[in-house]
Amino acid sequence: MDESIFTEEEIKELNKISQLPEEEQKKVLPEFLKKLSPEQLNVLKQSQPSQCPYCLIAEGKIKAKKIYEDNELVAALEINPASLGHAIVFPKKHFSVLAQLKDVGNLFNIINKISSVLFETLKAQGTNILVSNGPAAGQIIPHLVVEIIPRFEKDKISFNLPRKKASEEDLEKILSLLKGKIVLEKKEPEKPKEPIKISKKQERMP
Ligand SMILES: [Zn+2]
Repeated sequence: MDESIFTEEEIKELNKISQLPEEEQKKVLPEFLKKLSPEQLNVLKQSQPSQCPYCLIAEGKIKAKKIYEDNELVAALEINPASLGHAIVFPKKHFSVLAQLKDVGNLFNIINKISSVLFETLKAQGTNILVSNGPAAGQIIPHLVVEIIPRFEKDKISFNLPRKKASEEDLEKILSLLKGKIVLEKKEPEKPKEPIKISKKQERMP
């Protein structure tokens, strides 16, 4: 492990945690991870792939306030919420980014359902649905997580996107790069193992 980006104190604490029994580790590790920078988390993650907190939740090794679970996904309350009801959904398998999922159907159906429930139950006036793909997008832990943030008027949450007017030339340039590229791969229809036999009697049926 490249230990130079950790302070002496952090290394001491990390060593102390690693010597604790698993039950104790579960209690103190999440708190310790919260204090680290994205760079430090990345180094830690690379050296201990089994310590991904989302994988640990999926394996039941870290407790989470789960609101939904199926064979592929877990949805839970974010422990550092932007607003109360801030939920996270993630695949149980360790996918880093959305592009690694072949089919996002189940994921986005659940996201949509959670969002609707936040509107109904918490009387949210809006929701933001956020995916951060990669460290450049602010992803800290390389495990795909979708955040659903309930919004209320005057909640003071701001994404502060710096927007400026683009030139016609720049827009045309980007348009020509992207146009025609957004094509979904066709899924092979599942073939039945045995050819379906149709008797003459059935063929005559409407
Ligand atoms: Zn993971």
